[in-house]
Amino acid sequence: MKIHRARDMGFCFGVRRAVDMMQEAAAEGRLVTTLGQVVHNPQVVEQLEATGIAVNDSRTVNGVSTSTVAITAHGVGETVVRDIEQQGFDVIDTTCQFVARSQRAARNLAERGFAVIIFGDPTHPEVKGVLGWCRGRGMVIPDESLDDLPDYLPSKIGVISQTTHTPERFAQFVANLMAKRVDQITEIRVVNVLCNATTSQQAATRDLAEEVDLMIVVGGHNSANTRHLADLSRANGVETYHVETADELCNEWFEGHEDVGVTAGASTPDFSIDAVAQRVEEISRQQTAGV
Ligand code: SF4
Repeated sequence: MKIHRARDMGFCFGVRRAVDMMQEAAAEGRLVTTLGQVVHNPQVVEQLEATGIAVNDSRTVNGVSTSTVAITAHGVGETVVRDIEQQGFDVIDTTCQFVARSQRAARNLAERGFAVIIFGDPTHPEVKGVLGWCRGRGMVIPDESLDDLPDYLPSKIGVISQTTHTPERFAQFVANLMAKRVDQITEIRVVNVLCNATTSQQAATRDLAEEVDLMIVVGGHNSANTRHLADLSRANGVETYHVETADELCNEWFEGHEDVGVTAGASTPDFSIDAVAQRVEEISRQQTAGV
């Protein structure tokens, strides 16, 4: 069995920067509460908690007892930023620059009188945060089928996307919106806020899927970009499993397979990827030895 690693996988620079900033704060002995998980990866969150970085899952400052709060790479809405300022917290802002660009786009569109449609998962922290910059003129539509689109639409529409969506899905979303609602829309402004890091990892996974007959995707089960990679691999007809840790790998998955791909989402730390790759190599050796 041959193991192939995706040419681009694991921590994107936005997540790496956020984790580095948290580790620096811990090393300085600062007591910090992060507003939500720094990354969607339980192993990284546990490591940070062990160094004194607390998490407030509500992603607000309510109940925070430390003098410093940290905004995660996914960002927060405008009211949370105002609460932080008004209540005098020191702040470590790790908002990823791509997410910040999306927040600025949302605010600019809303200020110019556009209703803002965000194509994304309404439960995702990044999307909730971006919605919080739409000045009450935003709505989140989760699917390109547009089933959740309200019957009435304002005539000026701005469209942005969750940063981790694929270009194909975003293009389809916009095309469907025009096809179904062009009679209601007098002006549409589409802002591409997709993340380069994610599209590069998606391309690497797609290319790898051409070479392998089994794909292991490593990353938090709650990580949207990791789930997207698994979907991409399956869409290429490759048998695909999404695991968070090496313990989840089953020997039977590998029977009869010759080329196994390993890829990982942008929130997956190197140690998780290496542990999974090592375990796959062990399984390969056992199969070769007929164990
Ligand atoms: S996946 Fe992209 S948008 Fe999200 S943190 Fe990484 S670089 Fe930023």
